[in-house]
Amino acid sequence: MKIILSKEIGFCFGVKNSVSIATKVLKENKKSVYMLGPIIHNPQVMENFKKEGVRIVDRVEEIPEKSTVITRAHGVSYSILHQALEKNLSIVDTTCPYVKKVQKIAEYLNKNNYFVVIFGDKMHPEIVSLLDIINNNALVVDKVTEIKKIKYQKKIGFISQTTKNIYNFEKLSSKLLDKTEELRIFNTICKATVERQKSVIKLARQVDIIVVIGGRKSANTSRLVEICRQQGVKTYHIETKDQMKYKWFHPEDNVGITSGASTPDWVINEVINKLKEWYN
Ligand code: SF4
Repeated sequence: MKIILSKEIGFCFGVKNSVSIATKVLKENKKSVYMLGPIIHNPQVMENFKKEGVRIVDRVEEIPEKSTVITRAHGVSYSILHQALEKNLSIVDTTCPYVKKVQKIAEYLNKNNYFVVIFGDKMHPEIVSLLDIINNNALVVDKVTEIKKIKYQKKIGFISQTTKNIYNFEKLSSKLLDKTEELRIFNTICKATVERQKSVIKLARQVDIIVVIGGRKSANTSRLVEICRQQGVKTYHIETKDQMKYKWFHPEDNVGITSGASTPDWVINEVINKLKEWYN
């Protein structure tokens, strides 16, 4: 069996940054550190943080006064930051700069009376906080059929969640041309996501099977799975080595390995080692 790794694998820059800030905060103060939701979508990393003493909550109300709160890599709304400040919490904002950039662009479009259309997953924390920042003045779409329902607008601003599929963003952008006099498109899919998606397409051409490693709730991991399947390669999505099945593979297979942006190296190495144990 030949194992080929995707050129882009492991933590992206934003996740690395978020995890390293949180680790540093924990070293300094173990007692009252909270996270408002998981800071990244990887259950193994979050489990480690919990073992280190972090408490993960859904609402600011659940955090005692004067505690430290660490926010997600994929953003936090201004209203939540405001609530945290009112409660005298010490805020450690780990929002990725790419996510901050989308927030600024959305605010600009909203202020300048564009009908804002966001290519995104309605329930993803990045989109939830983005909508909150612009007072819900946007339409979130995921499919061409949703674009077809948009009424004619004087001007439309189109942006994307940072982790969406770049090829689908292009498709949806062209469909918006019919809907307005003026269309402003900001490609807000982050560089790390685009590079990962491009490198997985190259990988798909070289292998029989691809194993995508990453959290079930990780949007960028789901995109990789979607892209691999669009390439016609047999694709399996796992979170850990224990979910991998011996019967999926043959000894002569070329197996591609890729991962979501929030998957740590040690989880990837465990998968590779298990494959080597089975087939080498
Ligand atoms: S996937 Fe992109 S936007 Fe998300 S944390 Fe990583 S670099 Fe930032």
